[in-house]
Amino acid sequence: MRARISDSEEKMRRKVLVIGLDGASWELLSPWIKRGELPNLRRLIEKGFSGDLRSSTPALTFPAWKCYSTGKQPGKLGVYSSAAVDFETRKIEPNNSASFSAKEIWDYLSEEGLKVCIINMPTTYPPKKVNGFLVSGPFSIEREYTFPENLKKELRDKYNYKIIPEYYMTRDKKDLDDAKKVISSRFRFARDVITEKHIDFMHITIFFTDTIQHFLWDSIEVKDIWNYIDEEIGILTSELDKTWDIIVMSDHGFTKIKGRLYLNTWLERRGYLKLQSKFDIGDLLTILDRIGIRFDMIYNISKQLKLFSVLKRVLPEEKQRKLLRMIPGKMWGRKLEGMERKIDWNRSKVIPLAPLIYLNSNEDGSPEIDMLIKKLKEIENPETGEEIIESVCHREDIYWGKYVEKAPNLIVVPNPGYETSDILKRNVEFSFEGSEWKGTHTQTGIFIAYGPDIRKEKRIKEIEIYDLAPTILHIMDVAIPRDMDGKVLREIFEEGSDPDKRRVRHRCARARFRDEKEKAIRFEWTEEDREKVKDRLRKLGYIN
Ligand SMILES: [Zn+2]
Repeated sequence: MRARISDSEEKMRRKVLVIGLDGASWELLSPWIKRGELPNLRRLIEKGFSGDLRSSTPALTFPAWKCYSTGKQPGKLGVYSSAAVDFETRKIEPNNSASFSAKEIWDYLSEEGLKVCIINMPTTYPPKKVNGFLVSGPFSIEREYTFPENLKKELRDKYNYKIIPEYYMTRDKKDLDDAKKVISSRFRFARDVITEKHIDFMHITIFFTDTIQHFLWDSIEVKDIWNYIDEEIGILTSELDKTWDIIVMSDHGFTKIKGRLYLNTWLERRGYLKLQSKFDIGDLLTILDRIGIRFDMIYNISKQLKLFSVLKRVLPEEKQRKLLRMIPGKMWGRKLEGMERKIDWNRSKVIPLAPLIYLNSNEDGSPEIDMLIKKLKEIENPETGEEIIESVCHREDIYWGKYVEKAPNLIVVPNPGYETSDILKRNVEFSFEGSEWKGTHTQTGIFIAYGPDIRKEKRIKEIEIYDLAPTILHIMDVAIPRDMDGKVLREIFEEGSDPDKRRVRHRCARARFRDEKEKAIRFEWTEEDREKVKDRLRKLGYIN
């Protein structure tokens, strides 16, 4: 009898928890782990499988998180950055969850009737319907950011849940304590849901790691936040039984910044980008910057003067929200509105959205564009002579799928430690380490897997971010859509474990006809689909 019970327990469908740590990198974490810090991550590494995780190109939060959750490269998603150039309206439009057009891990699991919970993943606002719970991530607004909608009230009342922590950019202890509270609210909610709601799959992202590493990279404050997150990981994972496999991953890596190239300024000086002659707030910030007053200092001064609390009292709520949205916008350097108005759309040869470059006319492959690529590759760090740009990719070389034509024509891939910025700094082409941000993204993030099905092994070999979705579906015994670009990571499974023994099942990609819009966006043909339909049409006598 006992044996039979454990036998059926063995056969029970595996559950998966994914902990996403935005911008986590071995470069930062390994030395700390070796010195005895981050004991919970160390435990998972020692008892599980770990390695490098190669991010999408570009290695940006948008689209990387969706590349993870869909198992597809950006050419099938239609999103290449947090914003896109719209040539018809001559606007630079921010992307959101509706800009993506592929199903995610949780859509497939929901279709199978499995219960899912997604917490705080960037690119998930506005929220979509799932079989379970979805709390949208950063870049949301505080209105309707959950599915089901009434979950928002519980999050606020019970967890004091806040969606926007992006404006923490200081070493101010009060800010950092507040950030910890925000992080804790995500984990507390995750723990309650996972134990009380019979969840089969959970994803939780901690985003603050990205923000604080940009500003402070490897400082004592960053280590403090990481230790805090590690503790929370320890509590959450200790509550899981043997039916759970755990994956810890990041959307991209991080490294200390060596320098930043102001791509717009560089392009403007060489005649590729033409600007209108107008003065705006962005220019004012540039001037302040030149005399040594940076945006984070303005923020700090405003805080010291309690300017924000004064504004809170004086400004109507809608204006306050606008202001709050503006602050992270400035922080990311995405002065979208400012930029689109500054560009002379008629005379510019390119419309840059660093690290992406859109050609304003059909000149791809022309000698002039080849010359642009050559010049970009030659850019050097003015002090060390080191090359800043690793490569400049043509979209056709790195993307495939339905949305390649929506892609920027050129994708600039900087060498590790360098980044391209789309802030327009008149007369500044390059700034050195520490003058703005301290850390920047890299292509290589982290991957850890741990659980009853996972073998103990440490691998340096790179795993692709696209491999995670098919691997998770396989662990959970759900057929993998054929149009995913990733593959099942068979090498991570313990010999003789269920996912090791089971063959990988595939299925045709199917649309989820929820409404007309979705039908239009989501349907993707595979060769097999096409043949099947053709066959039916043939039988009906519609075609030969
Ligand atoms: Zn990120």
